[in-house]
Amino acid sequence: MRVTVLGKSPSYTDAGGACSGYLVEEDDVRVLLDCGNGVFGKMRKFVDYVDVDAVVLSHLHADHFLDLVPFSYALIYAPRQQPVPVDRWPGTDNPARPVLYAPQGAAEVFRRVTGAWGPEDLIEKAFDLREYDQADLLEIGSLRVRFHQVPHFLPNTNAVEFSSTNGGGRLTYGADHSPTEELIDFARDTDLLLIEATLPRPERDGVRGHITPAEAGEHARRANARRAVLVHISDELDTDWAESCATEAFGHPVKVAREGDVYDV
Ligand SMILES: [Zn+2]
Ligand SMILES: [Zn+2]
Repeated sequence: MRVTVLGKSPSYTDAGGACSGYLVEEDDVRVLLDCGNGVFGKMRKFVDYVDVDAVVLSHLHADHFLDLVPFSYALIYAPRQQPVPVDRWPGTDNPARPVLYAPQGAAEVFRRVTGAWGPEDLIEKAFDLREYDQADLLEIGSLRVRFHQVPHFLPNTNAVEFSSTNGGGRLTYGADHSPTEELIDFARDTDLLLIEATLPRPERDGVRGHITPAEAGEHARRANARRAVLVHISDELDTDWAESCATEAFGHPVKVAREGDVYDV
């Protein structure tokens, strides 16, 4: 399995960056994990969007799904997706229509978003939308996908696991979450843990929804992850500081993800 970082920003984008998006590939299968703002353009540097088999969303916060909008426009309106010849494209009877796995309630959220200026069903027209249940087990080519609910501001937020049925390893993506045993159990002994490190310090009041780099390292250590990488972290936080906090807590080197990083799992 190969994992490419397309964007790792939190809800406010890094300079020149993108919000959450990871390309997961194995053999002939290409899956986009989260599709935050900025991700569609970043993805196109690595893969042709008509070759994406599926998109999997962890939760329905803007920074994890907003680029479904430009992705949908491409799938519906790009000349090469049309049934009749346009310019140098011969026309196609089989335009790409990737499967979109999104949490329960996604269709209603998408309709509210795109209905604000245009057709409510933009995203449903472009993708084969399937609302998943947390207990579902997906098979996408040789990749097996599992979910596990984690505590966050949105109740329906899911950590996502990709495991290879073809000799590759196991990737665990924590999505966004407060400190939680749920992720530690779900990520037990994983090969690669992509874990959020949003905060410079714990929230001062109210319900917790994110964690710090030191807490991320602690989660990785307690999960006995083989490797951990920090994601969902702003370029306004000091990378050296974040990496040293997480490394000390994990007991092994931890890096902040950079766009274009590729991990073999
Ligand atoms: Zn987020
Ligand atoms: Zn979130």
